[in-house]
Parts: sequence; structure tokens; C-alpha cells
Amino acid sequence: MSNSEHYDVVVIGSGPGGATMAWRLAQTGKRILLLERGGYLPRERENWDSQAVFVDARYQTRETWYSSDGRNFHPGLHYFVGGNSKVYGAVLLRLRERDFDEIRHPDGISPAWPLKYDAFEPYYQAAEDLYYVHGLRGEDPTEPPSKKPYAFPPITHEPRIQQLFDGLKREGHHPFHLPVGILLEERDGKPLPQSACIRCNAFDGYPCLTNGKADAQVVCVDPALRAHSNLTLLTNSYVNKLTTDSRGRRISGIEVVRDDERTIYSGDIVIVACGALSSALLMLRSANGDHPNGLANDSGLVGRNYMRHNNSIVMAISRPPNPTKFQKTLGLNDFYFGSDDWDYPLGHIQMVGKSDGAQIHGEGLPDFLQWFPEMPFDWIAQHSLDFWLTSEDLPLPQNRIFYDRERVMLDLTETNLAAHRRLKEKLCDLCAKLEVHPHLFDRSLYLGQNVPIGGTAHQAGTMRFGADPAQSVLDLNCKAHGIDNLYVTDASFFPSIGAVNPTLTIVANALRVGDHVITRFK
Ligand SMILES: Cc1cc2nc3c(=O)[nH]c(=O)nc-3n(C[C@H](O)[C@H](O)[C@H](O)COP(=O)(O)OP(=O)(O)OC[C@H]3O[C@@H](n4cnc5c(N)ncnc54)[C@H](O)[C@@H]3O)c2cc1C
Ligand code: SF4
Repeated sequence: MSNSEHYDVVVIGSGPGGATMAWRLAQTGKRILLLERGGYLPRERENWDSQAVFVDARYQTRETWYSSDGRNFHPGLHYFVGGNSKVYGAVLLRLRERDFDEIRHPDGISPAWPLKYDAFEPYYQAAEDLYYVHGLRGEDPTEPPSKKPYAFPPITHEPRIQQLFDGLKREGHHPFHLPVGILLEERDGKPLPQSACIRCNAFDGYPCLTNGKADAQVVCVDPALRAHSNLTLLTNSYVNKLTTDSRGRRISGIEVVRDDERTIYSGDIVIVACGALSSALLMLRSANGDHPNGLANDSGLVGRNYMRHNNSIVMAISRPPNPTKFQKTLGLNDFYFGSDDWDYPLGHIQMVGKSDGAQIHGEGLPDFLQWFPEMPFDWIAQHSLDFWLTSEDLPLPQNRIFYDRERVMLDLTETNLAAHRRLKEKLCDLCAKLEVHPHLFDRSLYLGQNVPIGGTAHQAGTMRFGADPAQSVLDLNCKAHGIDNLYVTDASFFPSIGAVNPTLTIVANALRVGDHVITRFK
């Protein structure tokens, strides 16, 4: 074991939650250390190979986790500089204003947040600017208020998606241009020569070979390292444990394993952003005499109230072919808070990356097509329209991550499945009206092998924030109750998750907490 340097701030994890913090704090001139368990994701042809990415799960961790009902699975996690954002779909939506209030679902209550939308609004704007969000305000009736337009124009729909957009409008719906974080400069739907993004068909679930996706490495880590010599990144540095001082009130040491060598670092302020599941595990691994149930766990809530959305990806077969390359441009929130025949929220619909023959092969052929002499994977892909559906799930205390000796256990009881089923039915109804066959095929590879429990993409809630230390793990600044210098800035803090993708809220919150941490420097 060697003893190493002291920093003003140590940030653990370089996904959106940690990288945004490091980017923000590096600007203050303070000495910042960013620790990341993975390395840089290799840039290689396989980045855009759907067999490698989805079927072979080349970039996904090989770890095995377990659940109390005897299942084991590989979580859909990616340990690289930039974290899971290296493969994310970069749809960066704000939570709806009502998501911050209590919402009633048939299976229970989605709890209110202790801070409301207005506390996040300026940070949402800053997060959209930082992550190059291209979008258009005013189309989506559920959109929360904002003070400014998006800094970047909406991404152009390709003709088949424009047709779908027009058809939905004709049917009285409110499709909108999806807000996407992308380094795209285009004219008439064509990328300009200087554009990092080339509008290819390997968006969503793939890493981007041209660094055209606004992931945390591309927009935060790399620019901050270039601009600020006071920021240090250590890769392949796994944080095994945090230790506390003699009173148990401060983090005094950060035990890092790097190439089988253990080193202790320290920081005046320690920010944990390992992803909601891994951050809770770090707290639990760090149990000591003063914190016998894990750090910041006097409430017993660390690891509990895990949420991850009810997500599905479905493929519909359209009569006209769909030669779209960049498909992720259309969203629909008309059923977000309910529908004419259901008083509860259903959720959100968006286009997802275009499927290709290899992916469909990997998923398995839909049953009714088994009699085809040649497997028509490519034909199906040429006619497919692919949708991502998200419904809210509820934070149940028994949905939790914990250790059973060395084993990582993840327990999940699904909630609000009726809403998700109804959302799919609504999409079927829409398809029937729009020259699309109203039968939807499930695509599961994207969400990680072994769905549903392995579908950890939208992990949240394992250390909720709140004013009451008995009912929450973090305070309103996302500082651990009872520990003076420990903050958490991934999605652990979410008390509820709404039904939009979580990352913009993680980034906005990191900027908010960053401002608070900066006040401590003065
Ligand atoms: C396929 C896919 C598609 C997605 N699409 C979208 C989308 O379109 N829109 C959206 O909003 N969200 C999307 N998401 C979710 C999004 O990726 C996450 O919300 C986001 O990455 C979470 O950021 P984070 O910083 O909290 O955690 P992560 O991105 O998980 O980053 C955590 C980092 O901490 C590191 N780490 C973990 N443990 C340790 C340790 N002990 N020591 C050191 N380092 C550690 C990890 O290696 C990782 O780099 C998607 C996710 C996936 C997998
Ligand atoms: S569409 Fe653009 S951002 Fe996405 S993978 Fe292709 S080049 Fe990269």
C-alpha cells in the first residue's frame, strides 16, 4: 500500500455525473483528481459493428450479479472514461414540471421531490448548452417552461420519419423533434464537411467512432484536461473503499486499486459518481466501526428504492420501406400523463436507433416468420420503424442493491407494468392509422443481455436526497447526511424518476451541486 497525494477535490467516476463536476470545478483552479475504474473506450471498427456491440456485448462488463430469486445476469454497464454515456442514445430531455410533484399510479405513489422544477431550470439550460442539445421548443405540450430556446437547431427528420411526423400531426397528435446531444452541423439534412457527426446509422447503443456524440468524455473530460492543468485523470483506478476520520465525520482516505497496487488518495471534498448502483455499492463496501451498515447509511436507505424505468424497444414493420439512417429524431409525449381511457400516466415514446439485419438475427426471428426459407432479417430491417417506450417505475424499498458476502445482489419487483402495456397498445393504434403493421416485436439486446433485470441503463434512486436524515441519504445539496465532505452526483439522488431519459437531470444536478461546492472554496 502506498500513500499518495492530497487534492482539493476528488471525483470518483467519469460518467456524466462525475465528468460534469470535474469540468465545472476544474475552472476554479483548484486541484482536482478524477478517478475512473475503466480506460478510454478503444476507437476501432467494432464501435459501429452491431454484431460486436449488441450480440457479443463487446463493451459491456462481464461481471456477474445475482438476485435473491436465484437469477444471475450481466448488468448492462460500461466502465470507460465517459461511463455509460459512451454508448447512450444522447436523448437529453428535462423532467416535466409535474414530475417534481407527487404522482399517483395504480401501483402506488411516485413521491414528490424536495426541490421543484424552478431550482433546476437554469441548470437544465446550462446542461443543454454544455451537451450540445439540438432541439426545438414549443412542439411538445408537456414540455416544462424554459427561458431560452435551444442553442442548437433541431435535427432534420429523414423523409420516412418526416412522413411519420406529418401523419401523427394529421391524426391530431403532437410529435416533436427529440432533443439530442450531438456534435452535428448539417444543411438540408446533410452533415457539413467539418461536422464531427456524419448522421450514420450507428447511433444509440453504439460508441461513436468519430466522437460526434455529446458524451461525457467528449464534452467534459477531454476539453477540461486540455484547458486546465489542475485537473488530473487517473484511469484503470478502481475505488475500493472510502475511509473516515476518527470521528467518522469526514472522508479521510480513498483506497484505489490500480494494476493490483493499492494507493490511498485524499481530498478536502470527495464526490462520488460511480452510477447509482456502483455508488451505493461503494458506500456499502466502506462500512467501518463508525458506520457499521455502510457510509451515510444511518437511514438504512443506501441501495434501496432502486428505479430504472419500464423500458422497451419495439420494432414495427412499415409498408413503405424505411431507408432512414439517423432515425432518432422524433418523440411523442401525448400519453405521458394519461389518455382518454386511463387516468394514470402511460409514458413517453421516442424513435430509437435503426435496427439492422444482424441485430434482428441476434434477437431471434419473430415466431410467425419462422417458416420463411431464408431468414429475412435484412428485409425486415429495411421496413422496420423502431421505437423506444418508457414508463415510470416506482421506488420500492425492497428494490435494492446490496452485498451478500462478496456477491452483488440486485432485487427488483417490477411496478406499473399495466401503464407500459397500455402505452404499447397506444403505439399499435397509431401504427394502424399510419401504414404501419400494428404488430410490435420486442427488441431486447439494446437494453443489455438478460433483460429485464440486466436492463440497468436508467439506474437511479439508491441514495435519495431530502431534508430529513431519517428518510433520505443525501441532503438538498447532495451531501451525505452526517458526513461533512462527501457528495454524490449521479442519479442516486432521484426520489422518483418520471418517464424521460435521466441524463440531462444528472448533468443539471451536477452543475447545481458544483455551484454549491464552489461556495465552500470561498
Ligand atoms: C445503451 C444505453 C443507452 C442510453 N441512452 C440514454 C439516452 O438516450 N438518454 C439518457 O438520458 N440516458 C441514456 N442512457 C443512460 C445514461 O447512460 C446514464 O444515465 C448516464 O451515463 C449516467 O451517468 P452517471 O455519471 O450517473 O453514471 P455512469 O455513466 O454509469 O458513470 C459512472 C462511471 O463511474 C465509473 N465507476 C464505477 N465504479 C467505480 C469505482 N468503484 N471506482 C472508479 N470508477 C468507478 C464507471 O466506470 C463509469 O465510468 C443510456 C444508457 C445505456 C447503457
Ligand atoms: S450518428 Fe453521428 S454521433 Fe451517432 S455514431 Fe454516427 S457519427 Fe457518431
